[in-house]
Amino acid sequence: MFRLPVFREPLHVGRPNIGDREKLREKIDDALDRRWLSSGPLVRELEERVAALAGTAHAVATCNATVALQLAARATGVQAGAEVIVPSFTWVATPHALDWIGLTPVFCDVDEETAGIDPAHAEKLVGPATGAILGVHAFGRPCPIDELTELADRHGLPLLFDAAHALGSTHRGRPVGGFGSAEVFSFHATKFINSFEGGALVTDDPRVAERARAMRNFGIGEDREVISSGTNAKMSEASAAMGLVSLERVDALIDQNTRNHRLYEEGLAGLPGISVRGQAPGERANHQYLVIEIDQAAAGVHADQVHAVLERHNVLARRYFHPCCHQLAPYSDRPETHAPLPLPRSEALAERVLALPTGEVIGEEEIDGVCRIIRWAVETGCADGAPSTTD
Ligand SMILES: *Cc1c(COP(=O)(O)O)cnc(C)c1O
Repeated sequence: MFRLPVFREPLHVGRPNIGDREKLREKIDDALDRRWLSSGPLVRELEERVAALAGTAHAVATCNATVALQLAARATGVQAGAEVIVPSFTWVATPHALDWIGLTPVFCDVDEETAGIDPAHAEKLVGPATGAILGVHAFGRPCPIDELTELADRHGLPLLFDAAHALGSTHRGRPVGGFGSAEVFSFHATKFINSFEGGALVTDDPRVAERARAMRNFGIGEDREVISSGTNAKMSEASAAMGLVSLERVDALIDQNTRNHRLYEEGLAGLPGISVRGQAPGERANHQYLVIEIDQAAAGVHADQVHAVLERHNVLARRYFHPCCHQLAPYSDRPETHAPLPLPRSEALAERVLALPTGEVIGEEEIDGVCRIIRWAVETGCADGAPSTTD
């Protein structure tokens, strides 16, 4: 038995994956030589690569995914003041993107299998003020896309997806990106493919793409005239360079994350009340998040306790997404955003989840260490003391 932390250096969730530095420097040098620093050939090339990966006709690169969600709402004609049905179990960027442009997020409960919108609950929330439905593919697993498509079509509503986690994942063998009216990816530093900061709106609808392109650039259309209101959501060439270099490794990263996922499953197998969240059978998943669920009744410990034990050993797990958005300011004080309460399945799921480190900086040895800490935590009921290390 030892008292030392199992890891001397902290292990983080979402530590950036970094591609080939030499190629990155070359691309940035080229941009400097051209003196073309924003919305240039590198952004164009990134858009082509992203559209190809998503299997969509169009990709519109942006400075981040939050503003891409706003473009998606605006470009699909969601009117100011409208309600948008969103899951509460998501990163707070999802409702904030809407709230910030005068739309009202109305929180929906989740389907626990996918951790996405429960279509039956969404249906109950549709009313005269509803302007759109925005699904989230939480942890890269597609939400119930078919049921939501049917629901949105039946009510004549735009269907949008926050696919910030889901680049490279598939639904019924088709890549995420081409569903609904538009989908949005994030290339933030902590996402598995990154452009320092960045995002993209993808769509098959040429009108949505055209409007989003103009709105991204102060409402300036193809013929350089102002045709609508707009914002500045443009991506820089330096970001596009990083995104292109990062995208070259997408298959290698998915392979590594998939291997990590299997190692975690093996390392935690047989522990009562502990399960590793998976993907739909037969689908490709990017596994960029490694999320376990801790069922307190069966495990005898709460996710909070396991989180604290991991932290003592320098494993900085994250309780994604706890608390749920409807429990956070400003939404917790605005009943119009979450009637009817409670959202029991979202709240229960948020109590159970814990995201663990994965990605290119995590290998077999680290995973073995993290699993031993969790095993110890469950087997001892998180009693005072420490699991053994080998040093
Ligand atoms: C990261 C994230 C966003 C926001 O992405 P940015 O590029 O940082 O603006 C939105 N939704 C979800 C689910 C995310 O995880």
